[in-house]
Amino acid sequence: MKQQYKSYQETICFLEECVRLYPNIITIQNIGTTWEKRDIVLATISLNVEHADLKPALLYTGTVHAREWIGNELGVEFIDYLLKNHQSDPKITAALTKNTLYLVPCLNPDGFEYARTHFSFWRKNRRDNKNGTFGVDLNRNFNIGYTKVSDTSSNVYSGPKPFSEPETRAIKEFVDTHDNITIALDYHSQGNVFFPAHNFNHEKELDGTDLNILCANMNYEIKKITGREYGIHRGKPPTKLISGSGREYYYSKGILSVVVEVGTRNIPDYMQNMKESVDENIPALLFALKETKNYSFRAPKRVKNFHLKSCDCDTISLEWEHSEYGENLFFKIYRSEKEKQACNDANLIATTKKMEFTDIQLKSATIYYYYIRAVDMINNIESPYAPKVRVKTNLEKDEFSRTIFPASQDIGYVAQKTSEQNREHFGVNSLFVGINESKGISYAVMNFSLENLPKDVIIQEANISLYPMNRVNAKIEKYGEWSLSFIDPKSIAEITDFDQVHNAEIIETLGDSIKSEKLTQGIWSNWHFNALERKILKTQIENGSVIFRFEGPKKLPVGRDSQMMMFDIGYGKFGGGIHYRPALNIKYTVPSSEIKIKPSTISSIAKDKITSDFLSCGFDKNGDKIYGFMEFDLSNLPSFDETVVTHAYIEIHNKKKPKTEQDMRYNIEFIDIDNHTYEDIKVRERIEFIGYEVSKADLIKHDTHHFLFDSFSKIELEEAHKNDKPVSFIVKATSSSSDKNHLINWHKKDSEHEVKLIIQYIKRRKYGVSKATNLKTTKDNGIVKISWDNPKDEAQVGSFVVRNRFHPPKNPYDGVKLYAGSDNYTLDNYGSAKVDKYYGVFTYDDVPNYSEGAIVEYKSK
Ligand SMILES: [Zn+2]
Repeated sequence: MKQQYKSYQETICFLEECVRLYPNIITIQNIGTTWEKRDIVLATISLNVEHADLKPALLYTGTVHAREWIGNELGVEFIDYLLKNHQSDPKITAALTKNTLYLVPCLNPDGFEYARTHFSFWRKNRRDNKNGTFGVDLNRNFNIGYTKVSDTSSNVYSGPKPFSEPETRAIKEFVDTHDNITIALDYHSQGNVFFPAHNFNHEKELDGTDLNILCANMNYEIKKITGREYGIHRGKPPTKLISGSGREYYYSKGILSVVVEVGTRNIPDYMQNMKESVDENIPALLFALKETKNYSFRAPKRVKNFHLKSCDCDTISLEWEHSEYGENLFFKIYRSEKEKQACNDANLIATTKKMEFTDIQLKSATIYYYYIRAVDMINNIESPYAPKVRVKTNLEKDEFSRTIFPASQDIGYVAQKTSEQNREHFGVNSLFVGINESKGISYAVMNFSLENLPKDVIIQEANISLYPMNRVNAKIEKYGEWSLSFIDPKSIAEITDFDQVHNAEIIETLGDSIKSEKLTQGIWSNWHFNALERKILKTQIENGSVIFRFEGPKKLPVGRDSQMMMFDIGYGKFGGGIHYRPALNIKYTVPSSEIKIKPSTISSIAKDKITSDFLSCGFDKNGDKIYGFMEFDLSNLPSFDETVVTHAYIEIHNKKKPKTEQDMRYNIEFIDIDNHTYEDIKVRERIEFIGYEVSKADLIKHDTHHFLFDSFSKIELEEAHKNDKPVSFIVKATSSSSDKNHLINWHKKDSEHEVKLIIQYIKRRKYGVSKATNLKTTKDNGIVKISWDNPKDEAQVGSFVVRNRFHPPKNPYDGVKLYAGSDNYTLDNYGSAKVDKYYGVFTYDDVPNYSEGAIVEYKSK
């Protein structure tokens, strides 16, 4: 049978029937009466519903906008699901035992019915404005940020004053008298995106992590059903989009408040789209219901001062504080490699009672996000999340990295129908990629200069990241995909010309492409280069730059007008600044140089004599060991500070094949020794064995042998170089039982096959430059200006400035990036001068190695 949207009256009948069937779980009440005298009905659902108001609660509101029917439909379906399954699904039982659901399926009954029966695109309520126009946009009629709109015919007419409407007054009164509400979800359509509340000032909020994680966890549930990922879009410019909305009102009452935009059209094909949207949102709602207790007064307090303690290329240490620390409290720590990902068992990396944690086996030069919450073991209630910590691990010793941004004139979009203006689409605001009726086909073009990379780089990793900022224009679900291609620079003279971009020669399209339902606004999209793509990138380094064309679908199905995505450009008035600029990230190394070092000394050290310039080992006539001793001078290596040993090995040749019945094996030890007497050698301090031992059979088969240094020995080698010390080794024979008169001769001094120490190394700075000094903040026209003195060191390339509202940033990536470059000041253009915060300045060299951060605390007063 064809399923259709429930009308207002059918919804009321459904709720009344629920109360009749499940009187212990659901009650309904009328919280207000509309202009057209309809009841605004709120359902309360909880086990032992008479105690519902004593439990933490989720507030659901739907269809505040008349034409957004999903709100009413999803509300009804969610109630139906809870009631029908609460006896068979322990998750529902648990959720309804400890939490309460307040659900208003339709906050705008008059508008909803008008949209259903007269004009499907109606948005407002049905107030008679007494001038021939009708309706107030209820979602502009709340008091927070209320803005008066004079045109009563406007779709966003905000009413004569805040709370002038019975619908907004009704929900306000309910919320004001129910301080057990901890989470509020307001269901709208369309966009498949979460819009968590924020304070409209571009600064992170203490509960920002909670809001993002709540949405990310709901997203996880959605993805399980349909594979779709909603966007999570919070607190990024332009922020002043909504004024006087319900979300802001609930948020102002301390409630975690989110607008959920469901679906891709207001009134889509029910079977095809709406059923999917309902099905995927039910488990997400159930998740949110279970979370309400974790934000109630019974929950443990949020962890304080969660911050990075130390970090290197594969290890990150974190520490924190907690005021209620004691027997019954433990901590859960989650780690993600992407922002705004769920926190659940899949990425729970530690539960601990300690106030510190060290994470190991990490990848170098990789950004990690850490989250923490405290858990009360007795009643299993969890705390809100501490603000997240973001850390980028250091590079490995032989690695370099570059983050390359296009210059402003080198990034923009070209559209088919805007040929006159295409030039002006460069360096400002956003990239439009896809197709719509007014622009036609639209491509983004990005040209990255690769001049600063050495020509002989060995690219280990490369990726491009772009920030999708708006998918409201992507109206067609599951249609088209977005992909990036290398274009041949020789086939294009002018990147601002549509025809040239359209006809440009494609070298290769990156293997990663992103399908429409996975393009989530507010979450970075990343394209990782495979081996072939890295090879192409490498050839472009020889050209000095690389050009990418970014494209979406090029055709629209019948009856559709747009399938267009917007990505931030990071430049211009509506761009989000450098933090959101498209970037090409490259991790690379360079070919090694090699040096072959002949020994400064070799000798054979037996109990009764030392033979110079001669290398042998074995056992003397009494069965005492004879040691071959070698010393190498490292002074021909370049300076220690700029030498990274990548490989080292000893090459040694035996002159004759061993003649013994014994099972003999030979090894080389790296030793620390001052005198070369037999007694000293016998009680030697061994640093490490070099490589693997070789057997008698190996010596019979070959006469050249390589003993490879492990990582520790390479460090020791560098250490000796640092201290201008020669390095010493012995070669010796071992056997399972004692032997006598067994000697292996290795080649002697200055012969062609003399033993050698072979070192491969790259020239790379090991340490960063000194940190910035004299860091201070001043106010410049109401904007915070951060200034500092750069160290007087020619090796400094620049300074990296990061802002963190909650803790001093100990890593350049722990916060919002404000600046990277060679100046000694920057402005916090997007931040608020009215908010206390920390700024960190990290100087860097050409590797880059970052200095320890210079930190300044900014106080608004
Ligand atoms: Zn809406």
